[in-house]
Amino acid sequence: MTGQGPNLARPLFFFDLDDTLVDHHAAEEDAHRETHAFHASLFGSVAFEDWLAAYRRNNLRLWHEYGEGEIGRKTLSERRFALPLADLGLDAAGGAAMGAFYRDAYVRNWRLIEGAEDVLEYASRAGVVGILSNGFREMQQAKVARFGLDRWVRHIVLSEDVGAMKPSRVIFDAAAKAAGGQERRRVYVGDSFATDVVGSKAAGWFPILFDRHGRGAPEPVVFVTRLVDLKPLL
Ligand SMILES: [Mg+2]
Repeated sequence: MTGQGPNLARPLFFFDLDDTLVDHHAAEEDAHRETHAFHASLFGSVAFEDWLAAYRRNNLRLWHEYGEGEIGRKTLSERRFALPLADLGLDAAGGAAMGAFYRDAYVRNWRLIEGAEDVLEYASRAGVVGILSNGFREMQQAKVARFGLDRWVRHIVLSEDVGAMKPSRVIFDAAAKAAGGQERRRVYVGDSFATDVVGSKAAGWFPILFDRHGRGAPEPVVFVTRLVDLKPLL
């Protein structure tokens, strides 16, 4: 028998979205720079770097609480500006308006990471491509739409829809099931060792770390520093 029979399911190539395909980190920083400049009178003598550090510190903690189910998405959105403003002794009452300004700036500053389109196109010929992300549904769907990633992506699996966040194996199992559930090679590419590598590996996927800045990993793992270097691994 020749050709690809029904029992030979095509491999799955699933990707993390933020800081794997879309440069979230840079968009976040650029958006905060605009937010800080626009609200100069409110920030007064608080330097941009101090604001960004306070925001990231609080945002990280809030996302952790959100991941643990301790707070909802609405609370996360409300607090991620109010808390760092309060930390810096600034008026937290303007947090909501500032959050809305930031959100617009963040969306405006999205850029794809170099090689993203190239590697998605390649992966879509070698297998079935998906995105698996913990981010907010509307944001992640808007990123896919902005860059036309649906040219190659067949499955978008989001934590909000599944009810579990990486590194939980629930979301990786949901991704495999969404793609048909057959036994097949399953590869997951992401930039976070703790959530992407650990989570996918525990769920039986082959993890590849996208280590853009060459930071290394706490345990041995297959990694690439450029997206195009994924091609021979898919
Ligand atoms: Mg990521």
